[in-house]
Amino acid sequence: MVIIKKLTNFVALFLIYGPLRPSKNSINVGKFTAYKVQLAQLKDGHHEQDFVVDTEFFKNMERTDIHKADVKVHLDLEKKHDVYDCTFHCQGYVEVACDRCLDPLEIEISTDYHIIVKYGDSYNDESDDILVIPESNPYLNVAYMLYDTIVLCIPLRHVHPIGKCNRAMLTALSKHRSAASDNDGADDEDASGYADAGEIDPSVPGAED
Ligand SMILES: [Zn+2]
Repeated sequence: MVIIKKLTNFVALFLIYGPLRPSKNSINVGKFTAYKVQLAQLKDGHHEQDFVVDTEFFKNMERTDIHKADVKVHLDLEKKHDVYDCTFHCQGYVEVACDRCLDPLEIEISTDYHIIVKYGDSYNDESDDILVIPESNPYLNVAYMLYDTIVLCIPLRHVHPIGKCNRAMLTALSKHRSAASDNDGADDEDASGYADAGEIDPSVPGAED
């Protein structure tokens, strides 16, 4: 019974978060034309470009658990001897639902992503630091790169700071869960429903009620 419950939780988490990156086939790349960096036309030296990763961006990525977003991305690019040294500075926030009370929760995004891009025979992203793209590509679309960078900043378990959750909702959820556990005899879950998340917050308001 316990194993089945944990498995159900895992499946629920997978359904919520899905695979880290949506399948490229299911995404309309035409919606991400604003994220092109025209590498082939760049001369040696320093270049800069700005992007905005917003609510629409995550909607187009079919990422329905991210309700709002506004992340400003500034690219510093250094081209030297056919090597493109890129650093993306990301600053802003994304809004998701709190795991504990389901109210909106803003998560601050403040991160840098560094990658070296080179031209080669074929596409190769096996290395974490070097991306090889085919000579036939005059540009690099950085939409997926920015998507991965920002999504990795969202903790697996995201909750409001202690005492900031929606109390009415917590009480309702707690009643609902204790009714459910009376029905099926399960008794191993904490009030947040994430008994298997590896970290149980003893200060969950209402957890002991
Ligand atoms: Zn909350």
